[in-house]
Amino acid sequence: MWSTHQFWVGLFGALGVDGRKLVFSSDSSEEQARRFAKGRGTVDCCYPVKCISGHYGELLAREKHRKIDVLFSPMIYSLPSFLKGHVLDNLACPRVMAAPENIKAGFLKEKDAFAERGVRYVTPLVALGDPPLVPKQLHPALAEIFPDATFAEMKRAVSEGYAALDAFNARARRKAREVLEHCAAADRPCLLVVARPYHMDPGIGHEIEVDLQGYGYPVLWAQYFPTDPQLLEWIFAEDLRGGRIRSPFDIADVWPSSYSANTNEILWGAKVAARVPWIAGVIRLASYECGMDQPTYTPVQAIVERSGTLFFSFQELDSTKPAGSVKIRVETIAHYLQKYSKDIIERKKAAAAPGCPLFVAASATTGLTPPERRPAAPGDIPDSTAGAS
Ligand code: SF4
Repeated sequence: MWSTHQFWVGLFGALGVDGRKLVFSSDSSEEQARRFAKGRGTVDCCYPVKCISGHYGELLAREKHRKIDVLFSPMIYSLPSFLKGHVLDNLACPRVMAAPENIKAGFLKEKDAFAERGVRYVTPLVALGDPPLVPKQLHPALAEIFPDATFAEMKRAVSEGYAALDAFNARARRKAREVLEHCAAADRPCLLVVARPYHMDPGIGHEIEVDLQGYGYPVLWAQYFPTDPQLLEWIFAEDLRGGRIRSPFDIADVWPSSYSANTNEILWGAKVAARVPWIAGVIRLASYECGMDQPTYTPVQAIVERSGTLFFSFQELDSTKPAGSVKIRVETIAHYLQKYSKDIIERKKAAAAPGCPLFVAASATTGLTPPERRPAAPGDIPDSTAGAS
C-alpha cells in the first residue's frame, strides 16, 4: 500500500467512488495493535505482516456513519517498479503478497468478523507490474462491488489508476531533485534511506530518518530518487563508458538475481548513493529477521562503504522502539556526518564525471553559485550536532 496507494485511489475514483468515501487505516502503532489486533494473531513472524491485523481490526471497529462496507486488501503479486525492463522481474515479497489471506484467518477463528459487521472482504490477486493483465484480474475480482462495470470501464479505470500513481511518483521525484539541487548548490550533505516502502510507516520504520532530519540533514528515499535521464547518465557515466552496465537502471553488475522489486530498488539505491557526492550517508532499515533483506546486507554495505560514504544500519526493527538506544545512535550518526561530510563530498566530487546537471539547474532555479566557485559555507551543518557522540 505504501508504494501503490495512488493507483487504488485513481482506480476507485474512475469507477465512481467519491474520494471522501475511501478510508485508509491509520499508521501502524503499538496502540493500534493493542486495541484492535488482540486475539487475531496468525503464524507469520514478519512484523510488517503482523501489523496488518491491527489495521483490519481498526477498520472493522469503525461505527455508525464511519462504518465501512468493503474492506479492500489486494494480494499484490508484482509491483510497478521504475526498474522494469532492466531487471529479471518485479515481484512483491511473497509474505506480503499472501498476507491478506494469512491475516484474514485471524478474523475467522471463532466467527466471521467480516460477516458479523456486514463488511465484504475483497482481496484480489493482482500483478501490478504487468499492466495489460490488471483489468483482466480486477474485472472479475471486483464484480461483487462494481457489478455494472464493463470490462472497457475497468480497463479505463486501471489506466487512470496508473496515471495517478505515475503523477504522484513524478511529483515526489521532482521534490527529491530540488533537494539534491539545493545540496549541490550549497555543497551540503544529505542522506539516502534504502529500505522497503513500508518503512515509511512511522510504526514500522520508527521515524529514524525524521529524527535525523531534525539535525538539519535532508533525507531522500531511494524509491523516489529522481530518474531524469541526463542526471542518471551523469551519475553512471563511468560505468556506462566502461561497459559495466547497459543502462543507468542496470543492476546486473551487483545483483544478478534481480527478481524482487523492492530488493532491486534497494540495490539500485546503494549504487546511486555511492556515486552522488552530496549523499554523505546511507541509512539502511530492515525489519526483524527479514528473509528477503538478509542476502542484501553485505552487498549494500560494501557498495556504499567502498565509495567512502557513511553507512548506518538498523536491521532488526520490530514493534518496540527502544527510544534511548535509537536516540544515541541518531546522535552518533549526526556526529559522524558533522565530522566527515565535507571530506566525503570533496572526495566523491573529485571522482565524479564533469558537467553535473544539478549545478546548471540549481544556478538557474535558486541563484546559488556552484560550489567549485565558492568557499564551503560554515553553518551548512547545524552547530547543534557539535560534540555529539
Ligand atoms: S520483506 Fe521481509 S520483513 Fe517484509 S514481509 Fe517480506 S520477509 Fe517479511
